[in-house]
This record gives sequence, C-alpha cells and structure tokens, in this order.
Amino acid sequence: MLVRIAAHNAVTSTEIVLTNARTLGLDARAMSDGQGGMAIGIDGELPDGAWDVPGVISVLRKHKPYMLASRELRDARSVVRVGDVAIGGDEPVVMAGPCVIENERDTIEIARMVKEAGATMLRGGAFKPRSSPYAFQGLGEPGLQHLARAREITGLPVVTEVMEPDQVELVADYSDMLQIGARNMSNFPLLKRAGRAGKPVLLKRGFSATIDEWMMSAEYVLASGNPDVVLCERGIRSFDTSTRFTLDLNAVPLARELTHLPIVVDPSHGTGRRSLVERMSLAGLAAGADGLILEVHPNPDQALCDASQTITPETLQRIIRKGHALVQLLDGEPVTDVLTTLITA
Ligand code: PEP
Ligand code: MN
Repeated sequence: MLVRIAAHNAVTSTEIVLTNARTLGLDARAMSDGQGGMAIGIDGELPDGAWDVPGVISVLRKHKPYMLASRELRDARSVVRVGDVAIGGDEPVVMAGPCVIENERDTIEIARMVKEAGATMLRGGAFKPRSSPYAFQGLGEPGLQHLARAREITGLPVVTEVMEPDQVELVADYSDMLQIGARNMSNFPLLKRAGRAGKPVLLKRGFSATIDEWMMSAEYVLASGNPDVVLCERGIRSFDTSTRFTLDLNAVPLARELTHLPIVVDPSHGTGRRSLVERMSLAGLAAGADGLILEVHPNPDQALCDASQTITPETLQRIIRKGHALVQLLDGEPVTDVLTTLITA
C-alpha cells in the first residue's frame, strides 16, 4: 500500500502512519516525494482509518512490487550524490577508467587522463567476476588502495565492484560508490548488505534480467534503507553474437517512466567493440541516460581485461564533448551555446 502525504503535514502525519503500520506488524518505510511531501510504502494493507490523518493526498492499494523505486510513490526524479557529483541532475555524468585495476602507477595515470578528458568519476575493478576461473581475478584489496590513492590525487570519486556480502564493508571503506555487477544483480543477500553500507549503489542490469526483475533488485537496496541507487543498462544477451551483448536502449526511456532512480548506460560491455562505443554512448544520452560508464586505458590493446571494448582517453574526450553538446541540444538550449560547448570543451 502506498500513502502520499502533503508537504504541510509531512512530519507528524508520516510518523502517525508509520506507527499505525508497525503496530500492526507491517513493514513500512517513508521517503521524500521530491516535492516537500512524504511517500510511505507499506508492505501490506492498513485497515480503513489507520491512514486517516491530516494531509493524506492519496492511498494506492494496488501498485508495483517495487513500490519504493516506482514513480507511483515518487514522481520527481531522484538525484544521487557521490561526493560532489550529482547523478540525475542537469549534466550527464561520466564514470571512466580501466576494466580492472592493474597497478598503482597506471591507475593514477589513467585517473589523471580521464579527469583531463572531462570524466567526473573514476571506475575500475579490484574484485572481478571473470567467466573463467583462470583469468585474472583482480588485485583485491591492493587494487582498492590504488583507487583510493588515485582519488586522493585527482579528487575523482571512485566506483568499484563488490561481489560478495562479506566484502561490502571493505569495498565501502575505500570507495565512494558500490557497483553491483550484472552477474550479481539477483544476489539478494549482497543487495541487502550493500543497502546497509551507507554508500550509493550502482546496480547493473543482469544480462538475462527483465526490466521488472531489475527494478525489484533495486527495491532490495532501497528497502534495506539506502535511497541512493543508480541503475545501469549494460547490454543483454540476444540471439546475435556479432556483438558481445545488445545494448538495450529501450530500457532507458522505459526505466525513466517506471522509476525515479537515475540511469546510466555502459556502451563498453553493451557492445564489446571499441569501434561502436562512441556512437552508442551518444545514443544512450539521446535515449535519456543520466550518464555513461566507460572502459578507458592509454594502451587499450594492452589492457588486462576487456581490451577489445576499451577506448583511449582521446576517444573519451570526444564522447564527452559531443555528449554535452547533444544533451544541451535535446534540452532545447540555443544552438550558439551548443556550438560554444563544442568549441571550448
Ligand atoms: C564491469 O563494469 O567491470 C563489469 C564487470 O560489468 P558487468 O557486471 O556489466 O559485466
Ligand atoms: Mn569490463
């Protein structure tokens, strides 16, 4: 059941509804509706009268199984803050870096390069979910230390993958945002633990997951008390093996209709091919993505993981320049301003 409460009664009425629900043994959570009021999601039905308090605007008995993520509960789109970076705000956010952290020197060099190219977050895996158990699995904690050092030097907030519930606190200690990878989208114990870690979560869509399953996985994190979830479309499996995955750009505008959570696109994994990454990045932004996550390395062919989809810092810079101009154009900004972005960026 969903209960919406108007701004002027928000605090006291929310408390009353929450208490009424919990007294009946029902799980209930409140969140801001983004317009000054509150939205309460109750896992079950309150009897008539239990929500009869001043300021209740609406009561929805039938709703999506992902009530906290749904726009039924909160119409205003959420902005997730990672350090100084706002994901879901006016500017597209670009997270960039190597697939896997290789050593400290290169991590710092890449961080400097992606910052110079205009990226606002650093990505890189220390714990890697590799298909083969014999492939390089990542450096583990030393990799996290290299990321933290690169953040210290460049100021870029760090997003990195966590694969196991028992790793969550360790990864959270070193990073600014926890990445849940495609292969772990339905690892519910991991989602719950990540939801309690006090760090924003980047939730990748499983490559065989429906949109509804993805939304429900986001709901696990939200229901564990963490409102800061960013979705990531990273490509799904299709019949066609010409590309590594098929970047499902339908998912972007659809996710914007279904949920208030920000969404970013990963054209690196979504294509698996370096030559396709620039155009699919721009396509992702045109589809309404709030940002991109991209694999970048100064010598892409030498990258220890996912070399074939890794781009150079120069390509990254071009994507960011064009991407900003494209988003400005789509937002209806005057063409002269857009040209200025292209020339000066
Ligand atoms: C990654 O971003 O490094 C990664 C492993 O992605 P995915 O989980 O989408 O395969
Ligand atoms: Mn990768």
